Amino acid sequence: MPSPSLRKFKSAVDAYATKLADESAQIRDLKALEELRHQFLSRKRGAVTLLFEELKTLKPEEKPVAGQMINALKKEVQEKLAALEAKLETPVEVKKEIDLTLPGEERYWGAPHPIRLFQQEIENIFLSMGFSIEEGPEIETDYYNFEALNFPPQHPARDDWDTLYITDKLLLRTHTSPVQIRVMEKKKPPIRIIIPGKVFRHETPDPTHLPMFFQVEGLVVDEGITFANLKGTIEHFIKRLLGEKIKIRFRPSFFPFTEPSAEVDIECLACGAKDPACRICGGSGWKEILGSGMVDPQVFKNVNIDPEKYSGWAFGMGIDRTAMFALGIPDMRYFFENDLRFIRQFYLK
Ligand SMILES: [Zn+2]
Repeated sequence: MPSPSLRKFKSAVDAYATKLADESAQIRDLKALEELRHQFLSRKRGAVTLLFEELKTLKPEEKPVAGQMINALKKEVQEKLAALEAKLETPVEVKKEIDLTLPGEERYWGAPHPIRLFQQEIENIFLSMGFSIEEGPEIETDYYNFEALNFPPQHPARDDWDTLYITDKLLLRTHTSPVQIRVMEKKKPPIRIIIPGKVFRHETPDPTHLPMFFQVEGLVVDEGITFANLKGTIEHFIKRLLGEKIKIRFRPSFFPFTEPSAEVDIECLACGAKDPACRICGGSGWKEILGSGMVDPQVFKNVNIDPEKYSGWAFGMGIDRTAMFALGIPDMRYFFENDLRFIRQFYLK
């Protein structure tokens, strides 16, 4: 039977062995491994050194047994450390000190594009008047883009729409009007919708033309709809979008899908109709912003709506072009060059 002092010594050695097992299981890097090595093998305060100090207090006949216990522990520690070191081949990562005196990093949240913001303003005005929003495909058939809208094949008015064809019958829509047809095929009057979306034309980019741009169209179909409804609604819309005091005029025009048709001009916001050399209005003092008219009875026949019973009006407006005019931007290409210095100014406003 070992003496009480030797039993006490053994339990101290066992406690270190347990500690070694527990702590070595937590080791994830070489830095921690070095700490463990220090804890057990440091010449001044290491566990092995402390045990040898303790050994001196034992009786001479107990010392050899106790010494074997220490050496066994020491061997276990060395083997454990060597095994861990082999496993942890990656070098110790040196953590960067955080320097609180450096200026902070400025971070921006994502935000809607200025065209999207302008589109939302337009949508909100029409939503408040009881309109709903409709969307449709950007790749269209010739039928929906032209024929159903009263442009028969070979019609000269097709030349005004510089179309990007995919095949003989498929094209990138040149206006959002095909959605009017798609909606009227499915829904019966009353219809009050706007259709915002991307459209495509075969254009070389310049300050006022792009091969892709945004349009919004509106369509109202019901019994007893007149040109007075068209005029009142369009005037209300433009005033809410661009200001109560803006001057508006309706000018006769032609579109294959409306009869009668009118283009709508507003006074030039760039020069206030005062500069004969104005680049925006060409000195006329007026700027065309949208096309409109009463839906042609033939278009109603194409979608099986009785033109004797129902009438309606429609309009179409370029969103980018109007945004450009309203925000005083000289070149439409700025919107899509993705220069954050340009784009952010509208968001941060
Ligand atoms: Zn002008």
